[in-house]
Amino acid sequence: MIFCPLFSGSSGNSVFVSDGNTRLLIDAGVAGKNIERELTNIGENPSEIDGIFVTHEHIDHIKSVGVLSRKHNIPIYANELTWNAMESKLGKLKMENIKLLDKKYIDIKDMTIENFKIHHDAVDPRGYAFRSKNKVAAVATDLGHFSEEVKNVLKDADVFLLESNHDIEMLKFGPYPYVLKKRILSDIGHLSNEACGNAILDILGDNLKNIYLGHLSKTNNYPQLAYETVISVLKENKVQIGTDVSITMANRDKHSDVICV
Ligand SMILES: [Zn+2]
Ligand SMILES: [Zn+2]
Repeated sequence: MIFCPLFSGSSGNSVFVSDGNTRLLIDAGVAGKNIERELTNIGENPSEIDGIFVTHEHIDHIKSVGVLSRKHNIPIYANELTWNAMESKLGKLKMENIKLLDKKYIDIKDMTIENFKIHHDAVDPRGYAFRSKNKVAAVATDLGHFSEEVKNVLKDADVFLLESNHDIEMLKFGPYPYVLKKRILSDIGHLSNEACGNAILDILGDNLKNIYLGHLSKTNNYPQLAYETVISVLKENKVQIGTDVSITMANRDKHSDVICV
């Protein structure tokens, strides 16, 4: 499995995953030409993408979903409520590229894609897990609460992107209005650096987990702080960095390191 966050953060998100045969994007929340550029930079051809899986209808996840679908004839996968909420924002689409996710698992060639519920203030937000050749990759960002369901999926995953959105103190004392602070800190908001570290503790197992920290807030976080907060939670709990877990920061404006498992 080949996994690479192309863009990650409150300013726009897109992740590439492939088993060498099926090539997928999860979200397309920045300009289409930027996604094309970063795909090319990791040696992938945008016209070979087999599908875009949409997590939820927020603009930092859907900005160029319609554009890319039209240009490269890419099917778009989302559940019914998400389709209802986003379709008018995507522009005209070919009927055949509107794919409704109405069950938990679907197969595309040799890959099985599972969607799972995440807690966030969108109509029906989802995370995704991708299984092929006994390997599992997953995406879980935009979640206010690390539920049992998310935990069970990530326990199995060899590589995944997890949200490390904000530093709680920076958020509390930062410039956001009270209502927005309350939303972000709520059960359907975003995962803090500390909550992210604790979530990782919950899902470690026998095999090395390759974890990207992503969806960082531009205002209430910075990469080094997210990294150090998560690492200190792990070290306090005797987790061996590099043996039990490998932590990589997902870049905001360009592709991150590609990880193959
Ligand atoms: Zn969101
Ligand atoms: Zn988001």
